[in-house]
Amino acid sequence: MVEHSAGMHGRLQPEPPDPDRMSKPSNKTANPHRQTVSAARLAEAVERARNIFAERNLRFTELREQVFSEIAATNGSIGAYDILDRLSDKGTRLAPISVYRSIDALLDAGVIHRLESKNAYFACRRHEHGKQGRPIFLSCERCGSVTEAEAQGVFDLINEVARGQGFEAKVKFVEVSGICAQCAGGPPRGGAS
Ligand SMILES: [Zn+2]
Ligand SMILES: [Zn+2]
Repeated sequence: MVEHSAGMHGRLQPEPPDPDRMSKPSNKTANPHRQTVSAARLAEAVERARNIFAERNLRFTELREQVFSEIAATNGSIGAYDILDRLSDKGTRLAPISVYRSIDALLDAGVIHRLESKNAYFACRRHEHGKQGRPIFLSCERCGSVTEAEAQGVFDLINEVARGQGFEAKVKFVEVSGICAQCAGGPPRGGAS
């Protein structure tokens, strides 16, 4: 059961710019979870997730949408209990199991991925993970942002090396930690060729 308080506020609603608030010093700048995406980008991500659920004849329930929105609102990754806290702040009190069930449904649909090293989740940024390539996750140690890059060759090599040892690899994703282009002061992604 999902309940809303009258004073629910969400990032889905576009907020007017508030220079005063933005200029206030914050002790939370180090928290990558606070790096949020724009309302437009979030709305687009939610719409894409809704379409993917529809294509697969799955229900994009209100709760799934709420959980997905919290995950998609961050550039980084977010843990289940942080999701629970944020929904609670917005007036939606849930049992952890409800959040976990939604997370499972979102993972199954492929609209979010799990970052094993942090036991946290992030929204898939790609339109489709086709047969042509599985992604590696690029996780920034400084800002916490996570991006994906298709890298089927990485998986092929792992499989080949493992097979050489008579080992059957079952790698679904590969996480790579490091420093993102922005933190390194380099060109934005896709700029260089
Ligand atoms: Zn993805
Ligand atoms: Zn970074």
